[in-house]
Amino acid sequence: MLEEQKTKLEGELAKFTKKSSHVADDYDTTYPEYGDKEDENAAEVADYISNKPIEENLEKTLRDVNKSLERIEKGNYGVCKYCTKLIEEKRLLARPTSSACVECKKTITQEL
Ligand SMILES: [Zn+2]
Repeated sequence: MLEEQKTKLEGELAKFTKKSSHVADDYDTTYPEYGDKEDENAAEVADYISNKPIEENLEKTLRDVNKSLERIEKGNYGVCKYCTKLIEEKRLLARPTSSACVECKKTITQEL
């Protein structure tokens, strides 16, 4: 399920970004090239601006997915990183990248 999500995210990112060569799992929004006319230049800027937040969002999700995959490899997937109790299966199914249990999440959110 996570592997699938990873492939999907990487596919989405590949449409308008290129993988950063020096930082792993970092993507840069590519500047589109439509042409040299004024309206084409304007469209390039508009698309770049609208793609940037999508890129950041996808990149963040991809990092979460990768972290979860790492935890599966290490054998501590589904374990709350704060209290080390097992995270409820219901929660993992709804949000496979969860790294904290509901109780801890609640505590943290209230503290913020
Ligand atoms: Zn916890």
